[in-house]
Amino acid sequence: MSDEPTLQERAGRERMLAQLAHTVEACRKCEIGSLRNKSVFGEGDPCARLMCVGEGPGETEDQTGHPFVGRAGELLTKMLGAIGLERDEVYICNTVKCRACYREGTKIRNRAPIPEELANCRPYLDEQIALIRPRVILALGAPAAKSFLGPAFQITKMRGRWYEGPHGIPLMVTFHPAYVLRQTGGSEREVKLQVWEDLRAVKARLDALEEAASPAASAESGASAAGQPEQPSLF
Ligand code: SF4
Repeated sequence: MSDEPTLQERAGRERMLAQLAHTVEACRKCEIGSLRNKSVFGEGDPCARLMCVGEGPGETEDQTGHPFVGRAGELLTKMLGAIGLERDEVYICNTVKCRACYREGTKIRNRAPIPEELANCRPYLDEQIALIRPRVILALGAPAAKSFLGPAFQITKMRGRWYEGPHGIPLMVTFHPAYVLRQTGGSEREVKLQVWEDLRAVKARLDALEEAASPAASAESGASAAGQPEQPSLF
């Protein structure tokens, strides 16, 4: 028997996510809530098997209201494509929904979210996870990983392993696409290979969970870890 959500279930999740997005849009718990242009709630399939969680909106996201746009967003789309996932099949959001920034003269600069902002915004992320119930969470970058695993998390040493996320959901950590874009020369290829390994692990876990949930359908589609591409195009 398939565990695919019914149309009714899907519509219910869409409705509740829209209500939550509305709440976020009205939220001014932090000072950055008043500095932002647009809140960036998140988007994607409300019944997604994979949820990608980044740190927070940057300038372009703040202007558009969409997560992971611009070059980093394009790279994320390619990374997902490398394991056979379309961007609209997954759910993409951030640990904080407003651009963390400060004024410098006439300019507004990005900064990392402070603990108070992370704590204020966490209930929204928790509710998104509870509503979507993804099979796997992929944390993109150290700040997102730390928000799940604590401040001692070191991405260069501890990425690429499985952790237990909220509600017992398997959690993988890999580098943020913006970090990948900052690499040059040999380190660019090395980091991309590491990301590729992490993505392959995500794909294998998703396939294994799919097979466990619906063995007949998985056998028909031929989905299995063994069917993954071996040679990365390295996005
Ligand atoms: S960061 Fe989150 S909690 Fe803070 S104002 Fe924005 S939506 Fe509200």
